[in-house]
Amino acid sequence: MKERCECCGGDLGPHPVGLRYRGRESTFCSFGCAVVQAAPACCACGAKVLGHGVSVAGRTYCSRSCAQPGAAVAP
Ligand SMILES: [Zn+2]
Ligand SMILES: [Zn+2]
Repeated sequence: MKERCECCGGDLGPHPVGLRYRGRESTFCSFGCAVVQAAPACCACGAKVLGHGVSVAGRTYCSRSCAQPGAAVAP
């Protein structure tokens, strides 16, 4: 049985990346896929939050501008 990347579904290359997140073990073809799959999404714009991000009231945002109240609300 051949494992496949849990992000893009492609074959695992010569350097698969194993990652444990949200209580389950996953295997990805590359670090890029692992990051995309495991990174939390910004609560305002939906972008993947890499690095620290901004956490406000238990929600994660990609930047301080997204974390500001009303930033994501359409006019
Ligand atoms: Zn992949
Ligand atoms: Zn954002």
